[in-house]
Amino acid sequence: MAKKRFPCGHQGQGQYCHRCAQEQRSLIKKEEAQQAHDAWIALFDTDSVNLRKLDNKQLIDKIRNIINAIHSGTSYTHYKGKRMRYDRNVISIPVNRDYRLVFHVIDGKLHVHKLMSHEEYNVKKPGEKTQ
Ligand SMILES: [Zn+2]
Repeated sequence: MAKKRFPCGHQGQGQYCHRCAQEQRSLIKKEEAQQAHDAWIALFDTDSVNLRKLDNKQLIDKIRNIINAIHSGTSYTHYKGKRMRYDRNVISIPVNRDYRLVFHVIDGKLHVHKLMSHEEYNVKKPGEKTQ
């Protein structure tokens, strides 16, 4: 098959310019990736606790799942959470070796208070008014 010149100026074979089609496809892919990224960033605004400092998507998903489950009524014991001895209205749920979620019991319902790193947790009691 003979090469021909397309209106765009490229040369090639076929009904349309494959080079331009390829560029178009990768541009769309790039835009989709950008949109997905923007949507991911926007999700942080809807979080009850700030998860922006985390760079592990799996961990972020896990934390969101735990918060959603607890807020919709799943027992904290399901996640091996426990009440704090110094304040029975504070509940701590381990996320992994590095983080735990602290919930406050308000009117009998659990509300996420903050995400604490293991170091923070060991330095001060979660739920203390000073922070
Ligand atoms: Zn072209």
